[in-house]
Amino acid sequence: MNDRDGRRLQIDWAACDGRGLCIELLPEMLTRDDWGFPVSRDGDREPMVPVELRRHAERAVANCPELALRLIPSQPSARRR
Ligand code: SF4
Repeated sequence: MNDRDGRRLQIDWAACDGRGLCIELLPEMLTRDDWGFPVSRDGDREPMVPVELRRHAERAVANCPELALRLIPSQPSARRR
């Protein structure tokens, strides 16, 4: 896996139910905001997913009941493809 394979985690807060399943599945990257909604620990709106957490992130995306999580390409040019 190289830089072109990198992914960012995108959260659709309008769709999110705020119950926090993803925070339990991906505590290394996510925490709760003051209202209980998931936010990145590093403050980035679309945080980079470290390679070692990729499987955990994929699991969080797959288990989000509101389909509010996505993994998107980290490279802007790759997002347009
Ligand atoms: S699992 Fe999905 S719906 Fe639940 S808090 Fe996370 S993003 Fe929101």
